[in-house]
Amino acid sequence: MKPANSILSAYGTTVFEVMSRLAMEHQSINLGQGFPDEDGPDDVREIAARSVIDGPNQYPPMMGIPELRQTLGEHAKRFYNLDVDWQTEIMVTSGATEALADCLFALIEPGDEVILIEPLYDSYLPIVRRAGAIPKLVRVTPPSWELDLDALEAAFSEKTKLILLNNPMNPAAKVFSRIELEGIADLLEKYNAYAVCDEVYEHIVFDSEKHISLITLPGMRERCLKIGSAGKTFSLTGWKVGYITAAPDLLGPVAKTHQFMTFTTPPNLQKAVAFGLAKGDDYYDGLAKGLEAKRDFFADGLKRIGFEVMHCAGTYFITADFRPLGLGDIDDVEACRILTLEAGVTPISVSAFYASDAPRHYVRFCFCKQQHILETALERLGNFVAERR
Ligand code: PMP
Ligand code: GLN
Repeated sequence: MKPANSILSAYGTTVFEVMSRLAMEHQSINLGQGFPDEDGPDDVREIAARSVIDGPNQYPPMMGIPELRQTLGEHAKRFYNLDVDWQTEIMVTSGATEALADCLFALIEPGDEVILIEPLYDSYLPIVRRAGAIPKLVRVTPPSWELDLDALEAAFSEKTKLILLNNPMNPAAKVFSRIELEGIADLLEKYNAYAVCDEVYEHIVFDSEKHISLITLPGMRERCLKIGSAGKTFSLTGWKVGYITAAPDLLGPVAKTHQFMTFTTPPNLQKAVAFGLAKGDDYYDGLAKGLEAKRDFFADGLKRIGFEVMHCAGTYFITADFRPLGLGDIDDVEACRILTLEAGVTPISVSAFYASDAPRHYVRFCFCKQQHILETALERLGNFVAERR
């Protein structure tokens, strides 16, 4: 047999799949893979259900149904004061995952350099590498996760094609400050580079802060491709409806990838997402406030048990250092296994979000779960730690 592609074959199964399977096998509470355990709004799902019966059910336009693209244009104006032409600057994709791949395959020429910030979401590196780019990694480190702009500049060169920026950032739960974003914008101008902005958690930002989208900064309108996901905004992760907003010259080549990758996204789901995006401020505020209460409850609980908990400014993830629990000299992968098998609670090892030389003492908990599940998880973790002491 001739070998398959060596870059993708070198990767194992993603940590999310592996840990979800392990959690299921051991009836452990799954706080690993990031998904809410309550489905998003009834009315959004009702429209999707009705649209399956009444249509549309045939191939929609390649760029997405007009209704959704128009609503996305209004969303851009409403939340970011961005004037976007829905016909030439918005495209619907099958999840942010497809959007990311479309942007990377469309923009990268083999030999280009791509800047990535660790810890990073797991689909980034395989696609960047498969597209032929050379990854240039810069790191933010806990507890502040501050971006060192000098270190970032050191990663830029004449060969830099783009930076892949995840804001709010998974798993660090970091929200980039305006100063950091301005620093990134200056470098993009200086090195004539683009930014693929993974903003799937744009509406999950806490403490009355507002998400700042890089594309809204001076000079960035022509350099940024902004990616969103209905999966996160409407707690419907299985729907895989994503979207890209970018200037026509950037979106054009990205659409060329999309047409050969998936070509379209289920039209009935697109219709429902269009309805959802037009929801009032109460919906968006409720999403952030509801998750903020869960964050506070779960972070406090973890601290009481003995974890050293990193601040979560956005997303629905908390990163925690497990060393104070005194579990012995084990790494994060082993800690996740022990917590699953012995405590009955499954986190994700944060080392999975690094290319190499990862810190080995952090685990990530997903807290977008029902209150009673979070309570049981804390009780189980507390009992487990108490028994080991
Ligand atoms: N980017 C980040 C940072 C994510 O956490 C996720 C979560 N799955 C995605 C992209 C993928 O989003 P989607 O499910 O819409 O493909
Ligand atoms: N984004 C989700 C997370 O970080 C997982 C998505 C997936 O399972 N691929 O947990």
